[in-house]
Amino acid sequence: MSGNEMTYIQDAFDTNWIAPLGPHVDAFEKELASYVGVNDAAAVSSGTAAIHLALRLLDVKSGDIVFCSSLTFVASANPIVYLGASPVFIDSEPETWNMSPQALEHALYDAIQDKKLPKAVIVVNLYGQSAKMDEIVAICQKFNIPIIEDAAESLGSTYKGKASGSFGKFGIYSFNGNKIISTSGGGMLVSNEGEELNKARFLATQARDYAAHYQHSQMGYNYRMSNVLAGIGRAQLEVLEERVSARRAIFNKYVQELAHVPGITFMPELPETRSNRWLTALTLDEREAGISVEALLSALAEQNIEARPVWKPLHMQPLFEGDKFYPHSDNENISEQLFKMGLCLPSGSSMSEDDQMRVIECIQESLIKAKSISV
Ligand SMILES: *Cc1c(COP(=O)(O)O)cnc(C)c1O
Repeated sequence: MSGNEMTYIQDAFDTNWIAPLGPHVDAFEKELASYVGVNDAAAVSSGTAAIHLALRLLDVKSGDIVFCSSLTFVASANPIVYLGASPVFIDSEPETWNMSPQALEHALYDAIQDKKLPKAVIVVNLYGQSAKMDEIVAICQKFNIPIIEDAAESLGSTYKGKASGSFGKFGIYSFNGNKIISTSGGGMLVSNEGEELNKARFLATQARDYAAHYQHSQMGYNYRMSNVLAGIGRAQLEVLEERVSARRAIFNKYVQELAHVPGITFMPELPETRSNRWLTALTLDEREAGISVEALLSALAEQNIEARPVWKPLHMQPLFEGDKFYPHSDNENISEQLFKMGLCLPSGSSMSEDDQMRVIECIQESLIKAKSISV
C-alpha cells in the first residue's frame, strides 16, 4: 500500500458508503478511464468478472467459439467456459511472447472454412508486455471480430504511446493482490462505448429491471466493486507510475547483472512499447547454462527465494483437453518452448536492493556450480 489508502477508507466510513456503490466507485472509474484514455470504465469484483461481463455483452453463449491466447493464466479463458462456449487457443510469437498474428490468421481462415467464426478474440498482454496490437487489430477488423484485451498484467504499459488495454472493444484490468496495483481484489472493464458499460453495470448488479418491485428479465451477477475497495484503488492509482518505474528498475538491474550469462535471455520489449515489467521473466537454455529451470528454481527455493515457472499454456491443461490449438507455425510451438525454458524472478515494487542482490548472487552461484560439475 502507498500510505494514502486509509484517507479514502476513512472517508468511506465517515460518509457511511460501505456498499458496492458510492462516490469512490464513481471516482475510481473516472480516474482509471482518464488514465488509460478511454471513454468509460466499470469497476467490478475481479478481472475474471470483467472478462465474463465482456463476453456476455458480446452475446457469447453455448456452442460458440472464442479465441484466446494460450500462454496465460487460466482466468483469461475460464469465463468462456462459464458461458458454455469453447475456447480455441492461439500460440505466442517470440518477439512479445504474446498472441501470434500468424497463428491467429491461420485459425480465422479455418473458422471461415468451418463457417463458424469466433464471437471474440481474447488477447493477453503477458507480464506487462503488449501484444502486437496493430497486426492483431488489423486481422480482427478484416473479419469484424471484436477484441477483448486482457490487460490484467499490463496496467501502466503502453503500445505506440497508447495505454495497454485500450485497443479492443473491451479491455480488462485486475487489482488482485499480486498485480501492479491492488484493491485486495477487484477489476475494471473499460470501453469507448459507454452504453455497453451501462449494460455491464446492469448485469453486474443482478440485472434488476427499472422497477421498484424487484423484476428481472435477464440473468445477472453480483459483480460490482465495493466503495471501500474503490477508495483503496484511487490511492493505488496515484502511485501506479512510481510502481512502473520501480519494476522497470528491478528489471534493468537483473539485466545488468545477468544478461551476459550464457544461456540467459530476458523477455524482450517490442520497439515502440513500454512494458510495466510486472514480472521480470527470462528463458534459460539448459545446454548453455548447464542447469535446468527446475534445478535453478529449487536452488533459489533453498535460499528462501520464491521464483516461478511461466504460466503453463492453456492448451496443455487437463481442463482444456480436446480444445483446439494453433501453433505459431507448423514446426514452431512458441508457448510450449517458453513454458519449458521460462521463469519469473522476484519483482515486487518494494523489493530492496539488498534483497535483489541476494537473488542475483544466488543465480550466479548456481550457474557457476552447475558449470563446474559438468566440466
Ligand atoms: C490476474 C489475471 C486475471 C484475473 O484477474 P482476477 O482479478 O484475479 O480475477 C486475468 N488474466 C490474467 C492474464 C491475469 O494475470
